[in-house]
Amino acid sequence: MKIDNVDGTPVGQILLRPKPKNPDVVDKYLQAANNCTDACPNKVYTPQHVETLFNTEIRNHILYKSDCDGDLKFDVENEKQWGCVWRERLKCQKCNFVSKYYRLYDIVESNKRGPKAAKLNVQIQCGLITSPISNKNFRDILMFSNMVPPSSSGMQKTANKVAKQVEELNKKSMRDIRKKLVEENRICGLSDEKLVRVESDCRYNNPLINSGTTPFQAGTQVVCTMSENNTSAKQIVSLFTGNKLCCVAARLKGKGLKIVCPNHEGVCTANIAEDASIGNEGAYSSWCATEVSDYLKISHITTDGDSRAFQGVKQVHGTNVEALRDVRHLSASMKRAITKCTFSPNLFLVQTSLIKRIDLHLILKQGVLQS
Ligand SMILES: [Zn+2]
Ligand SMILES: [Zn+2]
Repeated sequence: MKIDNVDGTPVGQILLRPKPKNPDVVDKYLQAANNCTDACPNKVYTPQHVETLFNTEIRNHILYKSDCDGDLKFDVENEKQWGCVWRERLKCQKCNFVSKYYRLYDIVESNKRGPKAAKLNVQIQCGLITSPISNKNFRDILMFSNMVPPSSSGMQKTANKVAKQVEELNKKSMRDIRKKLVEENRICGLSDEKLVRVESDCRYNNPLINSGTTPFQAGTQVVCTMSENNTSAKQIVSLFTGNKLCCVAARLKGKGLKIVCPNHEGVCTANIAEDASIGNEGAYSSWCATEVSDYLKISHITTDGDSRAFQGVKQVHGTNVEALRDVRHLSASMKRAITKCTFSPNLFLVQTSLIKRIDLHLILKQGVLQS
């Protein structure tokens, strides 16, 4: 095999060992020395597929060479990994018998063309989405368990598909809850079946104040939840998620390009501008109020005392909306007010004499019990 210089002129040297198309005996031995069976990795197979593989191929092996007494083993050099699942074939240790490939996992049935998704890979992402650990942490756990982990990019692709479905499912579920609330109000005979009481608050990935690392609000992600207060179940009727993080913009900014999130070209994962106030709870509660307005009308909203959340709801549901305070924040602010307050000296005199009287009473009572 001859090679050329970059300007097209031929090179005097000839490559002596071009890569063979079909592996010869030497290649087979080299491959065997490099295989990963020494590491004894654990793998996940679906039992019924393994049963079919062995039962079928043991018969085929006898048909291929009836007098061969070699063992059939997994062809570990040529196995095919797909996420956490495997396609395997068997080969004989003595003769040249090699079986066809078998998929040792269940698939998700769909009408789409092309290879079907493996059930296990989808199930893993469904589990991960409900847990606080990431794809990276899951891969670490697999590696500690001596299992070959799937590629990060492959896991991310599956995660994107699963997350989209989970989002749709949750939106539908919340819509059903809103519909049911109206139905229940109607059965109860309320004058306006659309009216509901709700409560709402936001959570951030970092504390907004006293973060210590930035003079600005440290939060980059926000979740605003709105739940109904009509029933004791307090079901969530609307949810808003805000995000300032965008890896595409971060990468392009690193190259010196001027990129502004959100809505730039390509994929933008941020839906809040980087310089926007993340603690703008008025905008988020207004977004939630708009979402629930398809079936419901908010009569009262319980908040932590942030008046902007109430204003946001009022913009959508009119001025008749009443604001209520939740007991935890209200008691905390009352406690603060009490500690700041100045009391008349007489108040404490009365209290001390009262306490003394109670103490005396207790001592007398204990004395009676002891005697
Ligand atoms: Zn054999
Ligand atoms: Zn972006």
